[in-house]
Amino acid sequence: MRLPDHLDIAGWQVPVVPDENPEQFGEFRSAPAPHIKCHPKLDKMMTAHTLLHEAIHAISEMHGLDLSECQVRTLEMHVGALIRDNPKLTRALMHPE
Ligand SMILES: [Zn+2]
Repeated sequence: MRLPDHLDIAGWQVPVVPDENPEQFGEFRSAPAPHIKCHPKLDKMMTAHTLLHEAIHAISEMHGLDLSECQVRTLEMHVGALIRDNPKLTRALMHPE
């Protein structure tokens, strides 16, 4: 999957930066400016889950939720499944009119 240039998260355009660090799929960093690093050679599903995971980290930090890694992983898995398994819900969220 080609990486998006950015993700819109909580009113911010957070840049997505390719990063070939072999030790991690992705990372959210808030400094010096919010950005998400993502390995550019993951398959489509791993890229989507990595971006969702890092977006949840970003939301947690931006809103002071202080979610644990376990909580972020749980939300990544179940929010991803919620979107995937409920196309009517997903379409309604994307096209509310
Ligand atoms: Zn994480």
